[in-house]
Amino acid sequence: MTSGLDGRSVIVTGAGSGIGRAAALAFAAEGAKVVVADLNADGAEAVVKEIEHAGGTAVAVTGDLSEQAVVDEVTATTVERFGGVDVLVNNAGIMDRMSALADVADAEWERVIRVNLTAPFLLTRAVLPHMLAAGRGAIVNTASEAGFRGSAAGAAYTASKHGVVGLTKSLAVMYRKQGIRANAIAPGGTATNISVDADREALGPAALAPHFVNVGRVAQPEEQAAAIVFLASDAASNINGVILPVDDGWSAV
Ligand code: NAD
Repeated sequence: MTSGLDGRSVIVTGAGSGIGRAAALAFAAEGAKVVVADLNADGAEAVVKEIEHAGGTAVAVTGDLSEQAVVDEVTATTVERFGGVDVLVNNAGIMDRMSALADVADAEWERVIRVNLTAPFLLTRAVLPHMLAAGRGAIVNTASEAGFRGSAAGAAYTASKHGVVGLTKSLAVMYRKQGIRANAIAPGGTATNISVDADREALGPAALAPHFVNVGRVAQPEEQAAAIVFLASDAASNINGVILPVDDGWSAV
């Protein structure tokens, strides 16, 4: 079976770096037309150039995806340029400071929840009417091992990624009769530019440290991208509501 992605219209958020960049390149290699959405204009433009250099089609939209105006621009650009939205990959995300709950400042909580959970909600809500009109669509969210367990990050990130898992499952159930599938990947540690600004002496990081055992080897972004492309492809046509660990077995320990 072919991937069915040739000529399809794909939005990848956080596509200027790391897992999103690898996913954008992988979709383009399948012949998909890719919207590279990212806060970082230089990163997004570089990925578009890379795709075009390889003979593919891509356009960058830059801005903070936790803002409704940016979400609307991503959606409108995709529909205008590529005629609809076949695939949405909600991948952009940020780490927290690994803080234990009592140490989570309002700003840390609000930013992490807004970027990791509210932004996927906003963009999915904007894109769904286009998928419903077409009678098909695939949504792939980037969750995390922190969507399964309490020992992979701080309170804010852990809550946000458990939220992404719930959002994915809710979508899978509510839209299964309309030809729309929603799945997620749950990466373990992956070599990207994501950064952790944690005070290692603080309660949260100190409490987490003993649990960073059996975490498996660090993945390359391309290994995460392969799983994203699979879940978005026709090869996964009966896979809906799955949270797929890509973690060298961490979740099995
Ligand atoms: P990364 O920092 O390399 O890439 C993330 C990209 O998202 C960046 O280009 C950044 O500019 C963009 N971004 C951040 N906030 C944004 C916003 N508000 N609007 C638009 N773009 C924004 O990190 P990555 O590791 O590739 O992260 C991708 C996803 O993978 C995230 O959701 C992250 O939580 C998840 N994840 C990563 C790991 C890991 O070990 N790297 C593990 C589990 C889950």
